[in-house]
Amino acid sequence: MPTGRARLAGVMGWPIAHSRSPRLHGYWLDQYGIDGVYLPLAVRPEHFEAALRALPKLGFRGTNLTLPHKQAALGVCDAVDPQAARIGAVNTIVVGDQGELRGSNSDAFGFLENLRVGAPRWRAQAGPAIVLGAGGAARAVAVALLDAGVPELRLVNRTHARACRLADDLNDPRVNVRSWPNWPVAFTDGAMLVNATSLGMQGQPPLEIDLTALPPGALVHDIVYTPLRTPLLDAAAIAGHPIVDGLGMLLHQARPGFAAWFGMEPEVTEGLRHHVMVDL
Ligand code: NAP
Repeated sequence: MPTGRARLAGVMGWPIAHSRSPRLHGYWLDQYGIDGVYLPLAVRPEHFEAALRALPKLGFRGTNLTLPHKQAALGVCDAVDPQAARIGAVNTIVVGDQGELRGSNSDAFGFLENLRVGAPRWRAQAGPAIVLGAGGAARAVAVALLDAGVPELRLVNRTHARACRLADDLNDPRVNVRSWPNWPVAFTDGAMLVNATSLGMQGQPPLEIDLTALPPGALVHDIVYTPLRTPLLDAAAIAGHPIVDGLGMLLHQARPGFAAWFGMEPEVTEGLRHHVMVDL
């Protein structure tokens, strides 16, 4: 049971009931016997700024942010770290010693840590990476891959103009936009394919792409994790590609916040994976 001195954190979103973060952080709090609480915080967009500014007064050490607050936080935080600014979204807030709100984004970190564990032989320098999508998740994936040192990043999105906007924002000569659905042109020499669209997610249409033009050893990574094994990953595994699922990204992105709020570097274990994916 938490005491009167419990460390407080949470996740702010609207709606929030679907979030797996309380389950995830709750597992670590139990495992490590920490006197702390991690709460789901249902906050309407029109109350977001006031709710965020109230956190230090309520004794919170910080919060995660989810839809629809990640972009709005850029304008409310007292400081935003450079990677979060490039991604254009904040998902982790730490309350500083003076009550200031420090925003960062751990999605790029979670994405790369998931690759490090799920595909230990993968190297960013191995060849061009192809990212499908140009939404919020694709922005974090693109920044992660560029920071990791990919020689080329190809963005492919249904709405071409959105991919061009992302390429402009990234402002990096390694970024090229390819058209959807001209897969042979997009896939030539590719070392890695990442699905960062919502296709393949429960309730969405499957991602139907022809992988024939993707070189045989290319890694296929789907960041969609509901279901864990997406139709894309099935097709890639049948074609002999190494694959990585998206659950690890969710688990690893939670580590920096937990460490900052609760004072312990948490581990992503099989036990945690089972606990979080029990009903996926
Ligand atoms: P988002 O900002 O709404 O972007 C959605 C993306 O999917 C856009 O690129 C959109 O293309 C594309 N898309 C949607 N419907 C499509 C269709 N019928 N045909 C082709 N493209 C379509 O969403 P997001 O936040 O980036 O999230 C994308 C996915 O990543 C979600 O499934 C989410 O669960 C997953 N995700 C996973 C993690 C993790 O930790 N593993 C973290 C974040 C997100 P247009 O631009 O053409 O609309």
